[in-house]
Amino acid sequence: MKYPKLRELKEAVRSLFSRPYTNDFPRQPHKPFERFRGKAQFSQEQCIGCTACVQVCPARALEFQDEVANGKGKRTLTIRWDICIFCGQCQANCPTEKGITLGNEFELSKTEERNTMRQKIEKELVLCECCSEIIAPKDQILWVARKIGPLVFSNVSLMLFYLANLGLSGTGHLQDKQEGELKRADRIKVLCPRCRREAVLKS
Ligand code: SF4
Ligand code: SF4
Repeated sequence: MKYPKLRELKEAVRSLFSRPYTNDFPRQPHKPFERFRGKAQFSQEQCIGCTACVQVCPARALEFQDEVANGKGKRTLTIRWDICIFCGQCQANCPTEKGITLGNEFELSKTEERNTMRQKIEKELVLCECCSEIIAPKDQILWVARKIGPLVFSNVSLMLFYLANLGLSGTGHLQDKQEGELKRADRIKVLCPRCRREAVLKS
């Protein structure tokens, strides 16, 4: 028969007189450690709708859908908690760093339908004033404009949209849209890259 090692015996005796390593869950709620990766949630204010998080999500727990109707566009971003693996890639790659964050919440099991385990947020889309093509979410354009400062005046569409947002110019000439080639005046509109190229080359 082999005798226990002295080190193990010492550990066993010590544990008789020390507090347990485990906590008294569920009577005593578990307190996650610092930097714990729990439930991920979008922030309506901090998210700019760029979809970078959707591109990097390995579990495809993030989705987006664009809708255009009556000259208005909206992007819906969805996170599905039932398939999220809490890897934190979405938060790590979010350009605003606060658009989506992983909190401390870890008790996500439910008896309800799976489709209740999701969060949706909506972002207004900016459309090309000539062809109605989606350009980007409004919040994303304004975020870029603030980021680059005076360089905003180097891009006509960006400048016009930024000034319109400050109430210093108007946008939304979709109702003036005419069939056929773009005219010289169309250059002073918020345009998608294709219409911008056409307006510059053909007018
Ligand atoms: S701002 Fe962040 S959270 Fe919002 S869509 Fe972009 S990457 Fe995702
Ligand atoms: S934590 Fe990972 S799996 Fe969950 S939404 Fe973010 S990127 Fe996707």
